[in-house]
Amino acid sequence: MPTFVIVGASLAGAKAAETLRDEGFDGEIVLLGAETERPYERPPLSKGYLLGHDELDSVYVHPEGWYAEHGVDLRLGVTVTAVDRAASAVITSDDSIVRYDKLLLTTGASPRRLNFPGSDRPGVLYLRTVADSQRLRAAFQPGTRVVVAGAGWIGLETTAAARSNDCQVTVLEPQPGALQDQLGPELGAVFADLHRAHGVEFRFGERAVEFRPGMVITSGGAHVPADVLVVGIGAAPNDALAASAGLEVAGGVLTDAALRTSGENIFAAGDVANSFHPLLGRRVRVEHWANALNGGPAAARSMLGMPVQYDPVPYFYSDQYDLGMECAGLPSPGRYDQVVYRGSRAAMEFIAFWLSRGTVVAGMNVNVWDVNDDIQSLIRSAREVDLSRLANPDIPLPEV
Ligand SMILES: Cc1cc2nc3c(=O)[nH]c(=O)nc-3n(C[C@H](O)[C@H](O)[C@H](O)COP(=O)(O)OP(=O)(O)OC[C@H]3O[C@@H](n4cnc5c(N)ncnc54)[C@H](O)[C@@H]3O)c2cc1C
Repeated sequence: MPTFVIVGASLAGAKAAETLRDEGFDGEIVLLGAETERPYERPPLSKGYLLGHDELDSVYVHPEGWYAEHGVDLRLGVTVTAVDRAASAVITSDDSIVRYDKLLLTTGASPRRLNFPGSDRPGVLYLRTVADSQRLRAAFQPGTRVVVAGAGWIGLETTAAARSNDCQVTVLEPQPGALQDQLGPELGAVFADLHRAHGVEFRFGERAVEFRPGMVITSGGAHVPADVLVVGIGAAPNDALAASAGLEVAGGVLTDAALRTSGENIFAAGDVANSFHPLLGRRVRVEHWANALNGGPAAARSMLGMPVQYDPVPYFYSDQYDLGMECAGLPSPGRYDQVVYRGSRAAMEFIAFWLSRGTVVAGMNVNVWDVNDDIQSLIRSAREVDLSRLANPDIPLPEV
């Protein structure tokens, strides 16, 4: 009976296990996870759960009994410390040796950490796990002075949660605007304006350099009152295990479009995988929920020897205050030469399209729904569009 081992018991890993069973795999599945919670989804940790709107029960990928019912040997609180490729086995923190026929790495990513005077004080908070979210939730009391380091997605979603709880929030961001790397300056400014309208102060061009009781000191020399410092400065792939096993690693575990690593019978998916993306024509590492949701199953099929070409249009969503949005594609600076809007930016109901040489490379629907599939089709088609039709909300997207 073959044994498939999955390292990393989160969304990608749990979905891979589910797909193995759905596709009829009747061998052993061992799902190893360093955390003590069973697999859960992280988006609510900076949104509904952090705001106190969602119960903890709603974040789990599967009900508690699902793993036993489906013959998935879920071992929690277990870190894999090494992969012995010669023996086709993994070694765990509890000194077990687990042999595999196929191995999937879904070890995800970890928050980048700050390192400066005071950065190890209890008031310095990160956000990746349920426990982190609970700590933020406890800290965000009315009147708490919060400094957020980083105007990326995590920084801005926690900012929205803190403001919704009547905290005073200052965001420090070394770049000249919010979400620069993620969306570019045009749409980054839309999010900065949204937060300013909710009473948030931004200090662009400044970073935190010290945390003292009651204040954060910035690189510009400002002393910003702070009870807590929330750090949202990005995440790094958990690829050290793969690297020490001699797999090819470069900003994540390198895979082909079938999510196969350079090691025989070893696959990778989710945040940790830096995969060749046929549609984009390059390798990408996508830290998005949808990539874990779909990448885990794609890797599972690949492990079963089914033909896999994993090339979804990258998809991301965010909720901040009363703004809900979905974004398809990767609109980072340098990958587009024009932004076209459709709908009303003043009313915050619009679609933004990023174009490169007349073709849509990314699109974001803001408080406009049921259009993301059409946006993804436009991106996938890579055809030149008529800009005035693209901007006209009366013309259905498939007809632009
Ligand atoms: C607060 C927050 C909010 C987010 N919101 C959104 C959102 O709104 N929209 C969106 O698209 N995306 C969002 N994301 C991103 C999304 O959650 C991630 O892309 C997704 O969690 C990636 O899943 P994964 O299974 O690949 O990895 P992870 O969720 O990182 O899980 C990896 C797991 O592997 C474990 N692990 C690592 N190394 C080992 C080892 N050696 N042995 C055993 N276990 C190990 C880790 O402990 C972890 O449990 C958010 C992320 C966070 C943190």
